[in-house]
Amino acid sequence: MKQPAAIVWFRQDLRLDDNPALEAAVKSGKPVVPVFIWDPDSEGDWSPGAASRSWLHFALKKLDKSLRAVGSRLVLHEGPTLECLEKLIDDTSADSVFWNRRYEPAVIARDTKIKTELSKRGLHVESFNAMLLFEPWTVKTKTATPYKVFTPFYRACLSQPEPDDPISAPQKLKSPGKWPTSAKLESLKLLPRIHWDTGIREAWRLDEPEESSLIDRFVQQGLAGYPEARDRPDVDGTSRVSPYLHSGELSPRRLWHAVRAATRRPKTGPPPKAAEGYLRELIWREFAYHLLFHFPKTVSEPLNAGFAKFAWRKDAGGLKAWQKGQTGYPIVDAGMRQLWTTGWMHNRVRMIVGSFLVKDLLLPWPEGAKWFWDTLVDADLANNTLGWQWVAGCGADAAPFFRIFNPIRQGEKFDPEGNYVREWVPELSKLPDRWIQKPWEAPESILKDAGIDLGRTYPQRLVDHDEARARALEEFKKSRETAE
Ligand SMILES: Cc1cc2nc3c(=O)[nH]c(=O)nc-3n(C[C@H](O)[C@H](O)[C@H](O)COP(=O)(O)OP(=O)(O)OC[C@H]3O[C@@H](n4cnc5c(N)ncnc54)[C@H](O)[C@@H]3O)c2cc1C
Repeated sequence: MKQPAAIVWFRQDLRLDDNPALEAAVKSGKPVVPVFIWDPDSEGDWSPGAASRSWLHFALKKLDKSLRAVGSRLVLHEGPTLECLEKLIDDTSADSVFWNRRYEPAVIARDTKIKTELSKRGLHVESFNAMLLFEPWTVKTKTATPYKVFTPFYRACLSQPEPDDPISAPQKLKSPGKWPTSAKLESLKLLPRIHWDTGIREAWRLDEPEESSLIDRFVQQGLAGYPEARDRPDVDGTSRVSPYLHSGELSPRRLWHAVRAATRRPKTGPPPKAAEGYLRELIWREFAYHLLFHFPKTVSEPLNAGFAKFAWRKDAGGLKAWQKGQTGYPIVDAGMRQLWTTGWMHNRVRMIVGSFLVKDLLLPWPEGAKWFWDTLVDADLANNTLGWQWVAGCGADAAPFFRIFNPIRQGEKFDPEGNYVREWVPELSKLPDRWIQKPWEAPESILKDAGIDLGRTYPQRLVDHDEARARALEEFKKSRETAE
């Protein structure tokens, strides 16, 4: 008689390392059928954007390769998830389905339904945590409510038991006697037809599994300097693990313990303060998931209801100029072009461009969130929502609305020699440091020597920052009056 199989439904956990769902399937002793189902419609308004799809294509390819190295393979299906799972269950006589949890509202609703339906059929269905250090429901205030302020949340996380040690990848997977049919990766059409993603392919090593070397390299070379370098977009000062964390190619527990372990090597390891600073950022990610789980409406509505009626402007031309990196503010344009080309943008610059959209242009933050969603390779509903609500001043523990980033000062402080601007806005590359963040103030002769004709080779400013700031503060004042 055919031995029933155990299905491992891969989702945002595209790895063999530290994968509890996979471990459970292996431990069951049954043949393991690893499956990925492409069903973007089931993710509601937040199905993966264009850059994330491109990333996903390569992540699936790498996962299949890793599975083949342990005697298995990845079975691909496309269509409504429940139907696909039911077909796979019939084809493999599976009696159990394992997966790792996700926390997006539409996905929770879908998965709950699937769990109920499969359980009704008598299957063993079990889900695990592979994505977070702390489950959102385990971190609570003294009155058992969710946190809305980061620092107490951070302290509460640190007082929890240490995240579990990561589980090693299996050495061998038991195959079913007969493999179910699988779609071809190319048939999922995750790659764009027009190759606008060349820059993404150049910026990231998409063909080779990079995750473990990425951690080692960062812990050995980047971590010690992280506190000073992390705010500088002109240097390679952050770990750039965000797309791997999002796709689940990298385990947050693996990362957490690697950083922790490094600090226990006092002679060769990074200073404990540097490690602490980095782990704190990982807990910002936990905070984002905590908020998404407890306040799911925040993906489109401000957490602070006082902002619900804010009179955002409509300005299609301004939005387009921002998206294309044509605002006339060099640091903003550099960030938006880095995003468009590589699918990633430095965190400091995400804050600068976000502030510019929301406060200088007075355009609604969900417009920014949507553009990031489509263009970031690390587009992540929890982190993106937190980031945008923080920038707009309407989220949990957000920057107050009246604290408005000055794009010139920010550029001068965090890109002091203008190297970041020169890299991404090459038409300004010959401008001396003094003018690189504010070309409109440069004397005509300097502009001419640098080959710049403002309004022709590089745009004039969309707005005057001081005037835009005054307008934003006025609108904020009005919105508070109407909210009272
Ligand atoms: C407007 C806006 C939108 C954002 N959208 C996203 C998004 O869609 N996806 C995403 O992963 N991050 C987002 N971020 C957070 C942050 O910019 C990125 O996580 C970070 O730039 C990734 O680069 P890194 O891996 O080199 O970060 P590092 O500085 O090396 O940090 C390591 C990890 O810590 C976490 N982390 C760091 N900073 C933050 C933060 N501010 N909030 C939450 N987690 C953090 C990330 O998982 C990151 O990969 C956004 C920030 C802003 C201001």
